[in-house]
Amino acid sequence: MSDQDTLQRFIFSDSNVRGEIVHLNQSYQTVIHQSDYPEPLQRLMGEAMCAVILLTATLKFSGKLSLQLQGDGILTLLLVQSTHEQEIRGTMQWQGECEDKSFNELLQNARLVITIDPDKGTRYQGIVPLDGDRLNQCLETYFMQSEQLPTRIWLAADDSSAAGMLLQKLPEQESQSDGNQWEHITILAETTTHSELLSLSNETFLYRLFHNESVRLFESQPATFKCTCSRERCEETIISLGSREINDIIRDPGHVAITCEFCSASYFFEADQLQKMSDEAAQKESGQKATD
Ligand SMILES: [Zn+2]
Repeated sequence: MSDQDTLQRFIFSDSNVRGEIVHLNQSYQTVIHQSDYPEPLQRLMGEAMCAVILLTATLKFSGKLSLQLQGDGILTLLLVQSTHEQEIRGTMQWQGECEDKSFNELLQNARLVITIDPDKGTRYQGIVPLDGDRLNQCLETYFMQSEQLPTRIWLAADDSSAAGMLLQKLPEQESQSDGNQWEHITILAETTTHSELLSLSNETFLYRLFHNESVRLFESQPATFKCTCSRERCEETIISLGSREINDIIRDPGHVAITCEFCSASYFFEADQLQKMSDEAAQKESGQKATD
């Protein structure tokens, strides 16, 4: 299928409804094979990754968007981050057996946190308690609370790919009165199945659902796995510990080993490198004192 690892927008020419379809293949595989995640969690990760890509399509500026699920059930943390250019990464933490567990059993007392971090401007955070049976329902609640635009989301994942669709009713212009159109389109979309969403090309998929509507597909954009970790970022983190703590590490154990939880890249710092960072931290600290 030609739509692998893409995000594609479409609009209904006769109404104020827009849509987005995402397919994640290689990027999804890369994320779920970072660790030995149990199968139900792999699927949930696929759905969450698709959700994040669909959410980035609604951003009106450049920046980062993250989705976090936190709970005290089997899945304790799921974190997916993407840029406005659909560069995505994700990680999970879990405990115990997942077999045959439902969404609600995997995520007890959980909440969904969506954070939008514009390159310029203030950070926005929306928190929704998880009360639906599936992730898409929780996201629809999030949209009701934050954007106040009626939004429907479909998400699906199997062991090789993940896919999702978003439909959003845009604010009506005065000349238009398409209240019924939104209802009509979402009723048609309800007839979709997970396997159609996962396996059909976007063109065929949209034709099957909406062949009596006039739908315009835009050019698709790539979605790719990309981790933002680097040696420089690790150094910044170590320096932020402060000279005292770095000196303690130099005494024992004498080195720092960091493994990125998103991409498994590992970074190793020896004592003499740590000494430089300690000096840099000390310099910053004396500078701060001078300005106090
Ligand atoms: Zn990384």
